[in-house]
Amino acid sequence: MFNLSGIPGAKTESRHAKVLILGSGPAGLAAALYAARADLEPILLTGTEFGGQAALTYTIENYPGFPDGVGGAQLGELFQKQAEHFGAKIEFDTANKVDLSQRPFKVTADGGEFTADSLIIATGASPVHLNVPGEGLLVGKGVSYCATCDGAFFKEKKVVVVGGGDSALEEGLFLTRFASSVTIIHRRDSLRAGAVLQDRAKANPKVKFIWNSVVTEVVGKEKVEAVKIKNVQTGEETVFPTDGVFVFIGHTPNTQLFDGQLEMENGFIKVDQRMHTSVPGVYAAGEASDPHFKQVITSAGMGAAAAIEATKFLEQQAG
Ligand SMILES: Cc1cc2nc3c(=O)[nH]c(=O)nc-3n(C[C@H](O)[C@H](O)[C@H](O)COP(=O)(O)OP(=O)(O)OC[C@H]3O[C@@H](n4cnc5c(N)ncnc54)[C@H](O)[C@@H]3O)c2cc1C
Repeated sequence: MFNLSGIPGAKTESRHAKVLILGSGPAGLAAALYAARADLEPILLTGTEFGGQAALTYTIENYPGFPDGVGGAQLGELFQKQAEHFGAKIEFDTANKVDLSQRPFKVTADGGEFTADSLIIATGASPVHLNVPGEGLLVGKGVSYCATCDGAFFKEKKVVVVGGGDSALEEGLFLTRFASSVTIIHRRDSLRAGAVLQDRAKANPKVKFIWNSVVTEVVGKEKVEAVKIKNVQTGEETVFPTDGVFVFIGHTPNTQLFDGQLEMENGFIKVDQRMHTSVPGVYAAGEASDPHFKQVITSAGMGAAAAIEATKFLEQQAG
């Protein structure tokens, strides 16, 4: 049968799921695996980023079971295959409205309506932007939030990376495969990234650092030509020529859809230790509800926990 899901505006009849999962990152796909193995035939709506943030990175070296690392996108595909093997239905569709005021919960997606006895929210997070002049205009013209996606466009070019955490260093090191130089601009005088990554970055001859500095403008008309940088200690402003700007300064949770319906804290969905939200039958897992760990393994673990709790909830409801 032709599946209308994912075609914006397409009208289908409302479909029912015992467990509906929003998000196809590690949390959502792990939840799908667990709910499928409990015979609950979960439906998972992928959102626009299949595999989530993990799929944006070239290689993941800290997910157990892969001693040589695993491709970020490849890991998402493996998760999907395993969940589908046990009966999960994965649909390329995005939720745009939810009604959690009564059960079954209602979810409106681009491709149709769903009702659900239980809901697992695994909508993750999206990159924080610099919010400086020029950035918005030059996205896709030299400004990027994904080295794996865009790195190959910068062969023998000069790029800057903004940020000082694990993602900034990991992605900066990945960019050295293509770029002639990678300059990491960080607002402090020391990095937040783990020791292994710091050592690798400092040992790489293509990587340079500009400390105590923030980007105040991305300069260019048709494409990025330079960044304006301000030294936060001296206030001195300089123009640094570059072909690309890769921004890795953190992430903000994708939870606006649930505003006013679930308890939140600083934009994160509030959950207890068992992933329960403020509405019985609704669970949240991964970076949508986790301001602390932000890893593939922790997000997947929370997804599994949410599905175990949803399974118990449905058993209790059935009496
Ligand atoms: C560049 C980079 C490198 C990283 N490297 C590592 C690493 O090496 N090791 C590690 O452990 N972690 C790494 N991380 C972190 C890791 O990727 C995240 O912690 C993890 O992906 C979070 O999983 P999640 O499932 O909570 O959310 P996400 O991965 O953010 O996935 C969210 C999902 O929700 C979907 N979605 C959003 N809104 C909707 C909606 N309205 N309806 C339906 N679906 C929706 C999206 O399409 C997406 O599929 C990295 C992150 C980045 C950005």
